[in-house]
Amino acid sequence: MVAPVKKNDRKTVYIEDLTHDGNGVAKIDGYPLFIQGALPEETVEVHVLKTLKNYGFAKIVDILKESPDRVKAPCIYFGKCGGCQLQHLSYEGQLKWKENMVRNVMKRIGKIDAPVLPVKGMQDPWNYRNKSQIPFSMTETGPIAGFYKSKTHEIVDMERCLIQVSEADAMMANLKKELMEIGVQAYNEQSHQGMLRHVVVRKGRATGEVMVVLVTNKHKFPQKEAAIELIRKLVPNVTSIVQNINIEKTNVILGNETVTLWGKNFIEDTIGGVRFEISARSFYQVNPVQTEVLYKQALDYAQLTGDEIVIDAYCGIGTISLFLAQKAKMVMGVEIVEQAIEDAKRNAELNGFTNTYFEAGPAEEVIPRWYSEDKEADVLVVDPPRKGCDEALLTTIIEQKPKRVVYVSCNPATLARDLKILEDDGYKTMEIQPVDMFPQTTHVEAVALLELKFVDKQ
Ligand code: SAH
Repeated sequence: MVAPVKKNDRKTVYIEDLTHDGNGVAKIDGYPLFIQGALPEETVEVHVLKTLKNYGFAKIVDILKESPDRVKAPCIYFGKCGGCQLQHLSYEGQLKWKENMVRNVMKRIGKIDAPVLPVKGMQDPWNYRNKSQIPFSMTETGPIAGFYKSKTHEIVDMERCLIQVSEADAMMANLKKELMEIGVQAYNEQSHQGMLRHVVVRKGRATGEVMVVLVTNKHKFPQKEAAIELIRKLVPNVTSIVQNINIEKTNVILGNETVTLWGKNFIEDTIGGVRFEISARSFYQVNPVQTEVLYKQALDYAQLTGDEIVIDAYCGIGTISLFLAQKAKMVMGVEIVEQAIEDAKRNAELNGFTNTYFEAGPAEEVIPRWYSEDKEADVLVVDPPRKGCDEALLTTIIEQKPKRVVYVSCNPATLARDLKILEDDGYKTMEIQPVDMFPQTTHVEAVALLELKFVDKQ
């Protein structure tokens, strides 16, 4: 394709959509131009920055017709920090865009015509993140801390973040200033020198308990007493201070070794009446308010009467499993990370569940084996990572025919692909309910209900 525009051209364009990065998309004779900060239904005058074979980039010179959903982004770091993409779109506008996006992806990729319901959003779509992983870095002008610019490892030095909890703000804003005084150096990625790499803050929303994890580039931590005192001063409700050691030259945040410096080695939280212990390294959903909405939806779609055997595939620390176990005869959870399965077992015990069974391993291998041992399920719940379900698991579903499948997905594209595979072999998608787990960003979570429509007679 020959680009119909070239660098430094000025054009007036109509914005049709948003990309996953939150950029506006305009098309000139079918050639897409990506424009930072532009919103759907806007007419904007742009200056072309760069053209490639199949697409180009432009920047806004003037907004000629503004979207009725345009708002002033409340965060001063918006556009620099890579965390949020949609703060310039009203929350209602965000929910509307997410609903349309899910509907379009379902049609385009899956040819799915099931109803896509309006997105379940938050009443207060701010300060929802219960976990922040804050990179620290030593620069020529002193230590900085914040979040990365989009697609880079460059830290935007920040004092606060409007989607995280205030305890994480306290760490971000003050720790870097006061660290020097106690003699702790921030890490430098280039030289691999310095002590403090990341600070991870986690909060149990229901309990108010806070864990602060200091990720250090060394085992020895001579200033640890002073650091404990400083953190307790900055975050008075801290209940756990942990050192995690990561001496590798790597982008992976946490190392394998953790030492509790002060307080407990976990925090507790509850979701919908179920208690969870969360340690420094366990996976836990980052928006607890919406997690409850999501799990309730999954439970609702599972339509349990108390007699069902349920399989929860990709179960993590068993959060959905325990939610379902309140209404099922038996729940069997499978998850590839062994530590998560240990956590799931402990959480089941903590809550007094005796109708759960957890096993570590790949879902696509463990579930066929369960079926071969006559451990059959009436309802199957899946919550896979972004890449969707493994094909072997979909084949098992098609062969074993559980009467209902509840599919929890963080990626509408792979959801649509997998729904299509199941629809081609006996299932019908009844309904799709998107849930906004990540306000101000382009991420969307969705739950789909599938029912078995016919049984192959052979
Ligand atoms: N349902 C959980 C976790 C969902 S995240 C919750 O709501 O908290 C997806 C999970 O799938 C992760 O815990 C990941 O470790 C796990 N996973 C990835 N590939 C897997 C596989 N092949 N088999 C089983 N689990 C897998």
